[in-house]
Amino acid sequence: MAPALVTAADLLTYDLESTPLDANSAPGYLEGFIHGAIYKVRPDVQSVVHAHTPAVIPFGISSVPLRAVFHMGAFLGTGGIPVFEIRDAGGPATDLLVSSNALGDALAHTLGGANVALMRGHGMVAVAGSIPEAVFRAYYTAPDAQLEGDADAGRSRRAHVGSVETRGEPLACR
Ligand SMILES: [Zn+2]
Repeated sequence: MAPALVTAADLLTYDLESTPLDANSAPGYLEGFIHGAIYKVRPDVQSVVHAHTPAVIPFGISSVPLRAVFHMGAFLGTGGIPVFEIRDAGGPATDLLVSSNALGDALAHTLGGANVALMRGHGMVAVAGSIPEAVFRAYYTAPDAQLEGDADAGRSRRAHVGSVETRGEPLACR
């Protein structure tokens, strides 16, 4: 459905175990467990975005940590974004999808108190205290990853990469 056509009647509601409150509602996304699991352990989070963002994939499959490298990515911090390894929770033969509460709980554990977690070979999850801020974080994670990848491609020339100055304050969307 086109976003502009969505109305309140189209919204589906779930409990924290990702069970629909209306048993007759249309089926939701398979990976809805991501949302319930994070809301269970992060009372500060009011919005969760899960995305299959190609630009972050290299940082989930290599030892190079994703960090804030430009001002719009400051919410990523400089310590390295956590990476969810689904094999640790689901064994060696998953389809990489977070399709159960157990896998959702494991992802939420990996996310911890961070704003973003990467999912190896799959994508990412971004969280925030509001829908606009979660969308902001999900959106700007991609160019940050692209820029960091570009900088790594020119590693021999770079003088400094891996941190941005924010006066100690995370950027919020405006
Ligand atoms: Zn997914």
